[in-house]
Amino acid sequence: HPILSLRGVTKSYSGQTGATTEVLGGIDLEVEEGEFVAILGFSGAGKTTLISSVAGLVEPDSGEILLRGEPVDGSGRDRGLVFQSYSLFPWLSVEQNVALAVEAVHKNRSKSERDELIKQKVELVGLGHAMDRKPSELSGGMRQRVAVARALAMEPEILLLDEPLSALDALTRAKLQDEIERIRKEEKRTIILVTNDVDEALLLADRVAVMTPAPAATIGKIFDVNVPR
Ligand code: ADP
Ligand code: ADP
Repeated sequence: HPILSLRGVTKSYSGQTGATTEVLGGIDLEVEEGEFVAILGFSGAGKTTLISSVAGLVEPDSGEILLRGEPVDGSGRDRGLVFQSYSLFPWLSVEQNVALAVEAVHKNRSKSERDELIKQKVELVGLGHAMDRKPSELSGGMRQRVAVARALAMEPEILLLDEPLSALDALTRAKLQDEIERIRKEEKRTIILVTNDVDEALLLADRVAVMTPAPAATIGKIFDVNVPR
């Protein structure tokens, strides 16, 4: 069974004039456990709307989103989300930013178990040396690594990446793509990446699902990317 199924997911927004625009025009997609799927679409296609629906941050107008066969409800611990922009708390250190998520999600674990988890994920993204730094003391790439560490520390069933590299310069983006590859091999987690970068989709994903251009996006072609891993 797929870990995630989307069936006929639609979403419209109404503008100030009262006119409505259908952004998602019936999205069908299945994602298998352990798979890395890239959803590729132009800017404005509805990628953020789609991944926010999976995250439980946006409620679709119709259709179904099933996680292990159950409808998703609200933004849960089973889906870790990394946005385009860093969304770290500026007054908290790297360690504290990750700890906040870990404390919210793993309430039943002991302090030492939580500390170990935080340390492991921060080290996994290569920031073990920067645990005590504030976001303002980090480069853009480092901040996105913290966001990835925070999402992984929640131990989500699915990691949702919303153009996490698009705000970075080309060299940093290439470095972080390598990091995502490496993290993927170590963590073996189901990952959904939305991106408008064809090369990035082909580099990272097992399958690439192409969204049709706005409005009323659907999933068009789906490509298998047969790269030996
Ligand atoms: P993408 O991530 O592919 O760039 P988005 O999902 O962000 O696409 O946006 C798709 C369309 O929906 C855009 O035209 C955008 O202006 C519109 N949109 C997104 N969020 C809202 C909202 N909360 N209210 C109204 N319109 C929105
Ligand atoms: P990126 O993560 O964007 O690829 P690098 O890994 O190349 O950045 O950064 C190399 C080192 O430079 C980092 O380990 C960090 O110590 C330091 N550094 C980079 N940018 C900043 C910054 N804006 N503030 C403080 N330190 C930085």
